Amino acid sequence: MDLLDKFDSISALRASLPFEKADPFTVVMEEIISETEAVIGGRRTILAGTNNYMGMTFNEDAIEAAKQALDDFGTGTTGSRSLNGTYLSHKKLEETIADFYGMEHCMVFSTGYQANLGMISALGGKDDFVIIDADSHASIYDGCSMGNATIVRFKHNDVENMERRLKRLPEDAGKLVVIEGIYSMLGDAAPVKELLEVAKKYGCMTLVDEAHSMGFCGENGRGIAEAEGVEHLVDFYVGTFSKSVGTVGGFAVSNHPKFDVLRYVSRPYIFTASPPPSVVASAIKSIEAIKRGSNRRAHLWENAKRLHAGLKEAGFDLCTDKAESPIIAVHLPDVMIGTKFWEQLIMEGVYVNMAAPPATPAGMFLMRVSVCAQHTTEQIDEIIKRFKITAEKVGLDLKP
Ligand code: PMP
Repeated sequence: MDLLDKFDSISALRASLPFEKADPFTVVMEEIISETEAVIGGRRTILAGTNNYMGMTFNEDAIEAAKQALDDFGTGTTGSRSLNGTYLSHKKLEETIADFYGMEHCMVFSTGYQANLGMISALGGKDDFVIIDADSHASIYDGCSMGNATIVRFKHNDVENMERRLKRLPEDAGKLVVIEGIYSMLGDAAPVKELLEVAKKYGCMTLVDEAHSMGFCGENGRGIAEAEGVEHLVDFYVGTFSKSVGTVGGFAVSNHPKFDVLRYVSRPYIFTASPPPSVVASAIKSIEAIKRGSNRRAHLWENAKRLHAGLKEAGFDLCTDKAESPIIAVHLPDVMIGTKFWEQLIMEGVYVNMAAPPATPAGMFLMRVSVCAQHTTEQIDEIIKRFKITAEKVGLDLKP
């Protein structure tokens, strides 16, 4: 029995997609010209499908600090935070993030994926309940699978549905409600205030994943809970350095006095190597820049609104009524049109993410477009123009 046979249907589906000139699954960034442009397939291409929301990947201080850390501390730690992998800079980064969130404690993980795995699996014990949004990111689902709690799902962003589920749970059981500030595929914001208020009414602890909202939501860029004035209802924040912070790694912060015990029980924290000193050094500089980044935040929101308005006016079917985040998702009718559209768009010199199930909810096929604070107004207009040209070339009906 060949253990790979079970994937034959996936290989067949993949082979049936009609890509001729470019393939979204094998895109190679041959050269990165700036935060907003790259060379792909030999062509200069506008990047409109990254998570580089605050444009931090070329932040001069972050690059300088990373180079210095390479010289001073070498290329990697070669070990776990629990053994030889805690350097002074890891402690400094944890202090920087705790300070950024105005909270007492922080744990840095090697990725955001591991931060969710590590927090949810450790918090959700045998007799506990973890209550999650049905459209949660894979790292939240995987954190649930790794722990021993009973998982309860509620309908995406549906406060009433969550309350109905909470009503049925034992009053005195341990309960953790997990939500995301902004959902990564559709770019829609969660009704964080209402969800957290209901969670607290039923005695739950709360974890908010601000992976796609950190940097540009809220006055200081902490995320949606800050923007909605409900940070006091958050027990744990989880976040990542791989989006607005522009590098790689993850974190959790909290005011809980017992928080530090998680360093001894969270397996994805313990059983993996800590992030390299250069990454840690650039994350510190980047978070400091984000804190001071109100101008970037303002320009990012202008870009998001301009792109949303332009695509809407052109008649594209958008997944949100207004720009709720820098992620603007364009709904396409089916996989064939989606495939052709993505390919033609890349030929026109615009890179976006082609998003398909299971990454998307309700079997949707999307062009996931995302903007960066460093995109110029001209680039945004160019993206809109090339979307229209592409629609015409692939025969997609627009409804202006
Ligand atoms: N949470 C959410 C909501 C995400 O979208 C992602 C990544 N796409 C993560 C966590 C994991 O982040 P990382 O890339 O740092 O592993």
